[in-house]
Amino acid sequence: MLIWGTTQLKSVVETGVFDCPQCQCETQYKRKKATEYFTLYFIPLIPLGFRGFVTECQQCKLTYTDDVLNFDPDAEKITNQAAVFRILISFMVYFHKTSEQHVEACQATYSRLLEQDVPVEIVEKELQLAMEPDAVPQAYIESEGNTFSTEAKLQILASAKFIVLAESVDEEHVQLVIGQCSEMMGLPGEDFEQIYEVVSQLAAFQQ
Ligand SMILES: [Zn+2]
Repeated sequence: MLIWGTTQLKSVVETGVFDCPQCQCETQYKRKKATEYFTLYFIPLIPLGFRGFVTECQQCKLTYTDDVLNFDPDAEKITNQAAVFRILISFMVYFHKTSEQHVEACQATYSRLLEQDVPVEIVEKELQLAMEPDAVPQAYIESEGNTFSTEAKLQILASAKFIVLAESVDEEHVQLVIGQCSEMMGLPGEDFEQIYEVVSQLAAFQQ
């Protein structure tokens, strides 16, 4: 009986350093060219054709398409920060935390995140947009909020708690609001006690 099939062989065509999205740091990569071969008794004999390039991280060993070589972590960071800001704004609208003190707290927490002073007008303008009749703050928190890592979600909740505390409210109310927001972003409700503990510690750093 003849045992035949196909296999892909990869040859290294280039090496260098890139920002690996998985490792979140600069690592070595190998760019490899994949060629498909006809095999007989598991031995590659006849090249069947070029099957594309892959870029392999030498640290985590994940492979990416060539687009990864243009991946810019700083641009990614700015986009994320803008999304965090809009989640906080949506949070304020949805939970009716839009007083002057809340706006100031949002400005302070967003300035900390960006590591530069954000004018209060930017917060006010975003709030106005989020309060327009066709805006759907809950849907925004749910859809955007769910795309973040657990760590980022906890940071967002800490900022949200900081904003809520801009006015004097009882602890029970704070827990209720943060709990609802936590579930909207897809964090497990049964773990809320631990979540709230971490969020409170993170928020305390902002005082
Ligand atoms: Zn990696």
